[in-house]
Amino acid sequence: MQEAVRYIEETYKKIKKRDPEQVEFLQAVKEFLCSIEPVLTAHPEFIQQNILERMIEPERIIQFRVPWMTDQGEIKVNRGFRVQFNSAIGPYKGGLRFHPSVNQSIIKFLGFEQVFKNSLTGLPIGGGKGGSDFDPKGKTNNEVMRFCQSFMTELQQHIGPDFDVPAGDIGVGAREIGYLYGQYKRLNGFEAGVLTGKPVFLGGSLGRTEATGYGVVYFTDEMLKDMGQSFKGKKVVVSGSGNVAIYAIQKVHELGGTVIACSDSNGYIWDPNGINYSTIKQIKEVERKRISEYIHHHPKAYYYEGSIWDIEKNYQVALPCATQNEIDGMKAKKMIRNGVIAVAEGANMPSDLDAIEVYQDAKIPYAPGKAANAGGVAVSALEMSQNSQRLSWTFDEVDEKLKNIMKSIYIEVRDTAEMYHTPGNFVAGANIAGFMHIAESMISQGLV
Ligand code: GLU
Repeated sequence: MQEAVRYIEETYKKIKKRDPEQVEFLQAVKEFLCSIEPVLTAHPEFIQQNILERMIEPERIIQFRVPWMTDQGEIKVNRGFRVQFNSAIGPYKGGLRFHPSVNQSIIKFLGFEQVFKNSLTGLPIGGGKGGSDFDPKGKTNNEVMRFCQSFMTELQQHIGPDFDVPAGDIGVGAREIGYLYGQYKRLNGFEAGVLTGKPVFLGGSLGRTEATGYGVVYFTDEMLKDMGQSFKGKKVVVSGSGNVAIYAIQKVHELGGTVIACSDSNGYIWDPNGINYSTIKQIKEVERKRISEYIHHHPKAYYYEGSIWDIEKNYQVALPCATQNEIDGMKAKKMIRNGVIAVAEGANMPSDLDAIEVYQDAKIPYAPGKAANAGGVAVSALEMSQNSQRLSWTFDEVDEKLKNIMKSIYIEVRDTAEMYHTPGNFVAGANIAGFMHIAESMISQGLV
């Protein structure tokens, strides 16, 4: 058997034997390994360096207890995590997720993807991820604050502006970052660059809130341009209704498309006139309610329980911006029957391995999250730069930089796929381009 193929298979077997129950992590690793054969065949020195196993094993995992008290005086205990995955090209960088599904497998899959994503931004940031199985849903502000304070009391000893810089993810927005930052400052003094995604008056960057959503749409726009198309007149489905989805909806509308549906974990809204992003913002960010409220504001819209990807309407662009594995093979097939011509991921790993196969068999351009949603972390890195220089750029300056970064990620991913004889395969392009940056940097630093 060919050397590269044998090496990839053996590595996967080893990883699976080590952590057989970490299904999401194994899925992310498998998706990566499936693309990497051409580059290992071209560079056998990577095999000799056992670079795959070194890359797949996180540098460090921290797990800790997070005790906190409810408003009623009840004592609760959650589990906190930080995975410091890879620091070959910069300090660990990546968000914190607060969601009941969080466990070591989820944090490791997110951390693994983050390493590649961050390297694709071209900025000097390594990869990390963290979070807790704490569920902010239904909690009061004071409960969230007490939880964040307890979480940070432990985490603070493991992070720092030049070492590990967390940010938000699902369940962690400006409110949580504010509380986390307040506690960090109480314990360590003022150090703005230790967290990103901060509210602007605490040293946050203008444009960070919008960055992931805008970035996905900028990336998709580049993809569409290459197909001789644009967002103009296109119908779009965006899953989710959080920070990524809200600003993706806004930007699609700005570019002349119409988002006809968006969702939360209970169901979805279909609004043939186009989803009103300010209503979603008000319901989700201010009132913190369910998306079903939308129909009270827009009586011509409909609410359905269940998965948004079961929608049976004609649309052309799918932007999954909710969560991992929201799309399986069946749903991907349905998408294509509905008329989809391009898929770009605002969430991390929303399409499972079967779904990816369906897009590829149908020859639908498909942009994986590690490329398409890199705008969030890219602007986080811009926030770090502004913090170290103690100045702040205007919204338009940040937005312009974001646009350029998304364009260069697209070009690198597209060109790498072509160079390794898989034109149009953006999964391979993203994995190989990310791999090359990290592998070269790791090897140049010796066996560390
Ligand atoms: N959680 C986001 C992501 O998945 C952003 C991370 C960051 O800004 O550090 O990339």
